[in-house]
Amino acid sequence: MTDYSAVMGNYGRADLAFSHGEGSWLISTAGERYLDFASGIAVNTLGHSHPDLVAALTEQAQKLWHVSNLYQIPEQARVAKMMAERSGLDKVFFCNSGAEATEAAVKMARRTMHSEGQIGRHTILCSEGAFHGRTLAMLAATDRPIFREGFGPMPEGFDHFPFGNMNVLRDRLLKDAASEHPEIAAVMVESVQGEGGAKPLPDGFLKELRDVTNEAGCLLIADEVQIGVGRSGHLFSFEPSGITPDIIAMAKGLAGGFPIGAVIATEQVANTMTPGSHGSTFGGNPLAMAAAAKVLEILDDKFLADMRERSALLYDLLHDLSDRHDAITEVRGAGFLTGLVLKDGITPVAMTEALRQHHLLVVPAAANTVRLLPPLNVNVAEIRHAVAVLDQVLGALG
Ligand SMILES: *Cc1c(COP(=O)(O)O)cnc(C)c1O
Repeated sequence: MTDYSAVMGNYGRADLAFSHGEGSWLISTAGERYLDFASGIAVNTLGHSHPDLVAALTEQAQKLWHVSNLYQIPEQARVAKMMAERSGLDKVFFCNSGAEATEAAVKMARRTMHSEGQIGRHTILCSEGAFHGRTLAMLAATDRPIFREGFGPMPEGFDHFPFGNMNVLRDRLLKDAASEHPEIAAVMVESVQGEGGAKPLPDGFLKELRDVTNEAGCLLIADEVQIGVGRSGHLFSFEPSGITPDIIAMAKGLAGGFPIGAVIATEQVANTMTPGSHGSTFGGNPLAMAAAAKVLEILDDKFLADMRERSALLYDLLHDLSDRHDAITEVRGAGFLTGLVLKDGITPVAMTEALRQHHLLVVPAAANTVRLLPPLNVNVAEIRHAVAVLDQVLGALG
C-alpha cells in the first residue's frame, strides 16, 4: 500500500488510483475500467489520451517548455487571437488556474473603474451559491461559510444577491449608480453554477443583466471556468443569450487537462492593464498554449453541434430515469454540466460512492446534487451505459 502520511489531508479522496486513461474510460491500478463522467472536475474536455492532444503536447515538449513572459511567446499570440475572435472580446491574459483567472478578472474590473476616475467603485456583486475559487479574495466572492471557516478575516469589496433574483439585483445596481459615491464595479456570475449544483440562471437573466449593468455603468464578468470551453454546448455559455460580457474568466477544460487559466477582456478593460500591473510566472507557457490551441481547434462549430445532439439524448434518458425513480427530484444544467437533484435522505457523496462501486465516476455538488461531467466527445454507447448504471443503482436504492 502507498503511504500517504506525508500528503496534506485537505481532500476527501476515494480509495482508488488510476494507471492510464483511454477516451471516456479510466483504468485503475487494479486493472479495472471506470466510465469517467467526472472528467477531473470538468477538465478532460476530450477525455483521456486524445491522440491529437498527446501529439501536440509531445511535439512542444521536445522543443520548449517555459521561457516566462519576459519574452515573446508566439504560441500565446495565436491562442489569444483564437479566443478573442470566438468570444467577440479583444484581449487575453493567461494564468494557470480558475481562481487566478477570476481573481485577475476582479482586479481588471477595479482597475478599469480606477482608470476612469471612479475611485471607491470597487465592490463586486456575486450570486448566492456561487463558487469562484479558493484564494482569500475568491473565498470572499464565494459565500459558502463552510469554505471560509478559520480563514478570516475575508477581504472587503464583495457582496451577494439572491440567486436568479433580477428585481433585487436591478434595484441594488440602479440605486448604487444614482448615489453620490457609487461602489459597485462589476457583477460576476456563472451562467450555470457548477459547484453550486448544476444550477442554470433563469431564462432571460443574462440579457437583463447585460442591460442593467450597462445602465448602471458597471461591468459584467462571466465566470466561464466550469461551464465554458464547450461544456454548455457552445464554446462560451452566454452565446445563445446574444450578450457579450466585459470580462470572461476561463480555466478547467481549456487545455484538456494541462493546467491553464485565462481572462478575456474588452479593449476598454484590457487597456488599463499596463506593463507591470499584473503577471504570472508560468502563465501562457508554450506547453499550455500547445494544448489549448489543439482543444480550441477541435471544438469547432461542427463538433459543438454534434455535442448538443448527444447532450440532448442524455437529458432525454435522464428525464425518463427520473420519471421512474423518485430518488431523483430534478434533472438540470446545460450541455454536459448535468445535475441530478436527489431527494432528502440520499447524499451526493453516498450516491457518488454507490455509482463508483459500479464503475461510474461522477462528482458531488451542493444543493443535494450529483454532477455528470462527461468528456465532450463521449459517445452515444457510453451515454447509454452511464444511464443503465444509474438505473441499476437507483433501483437498488429502492
Ligand atoms: C473550479 C472553479 C473555479 C476555481 O478554479 P481552480 O482552478 O480550482 O482555482 C472558479 N470558478 C468556477 C465557476 C469553478 O467551477
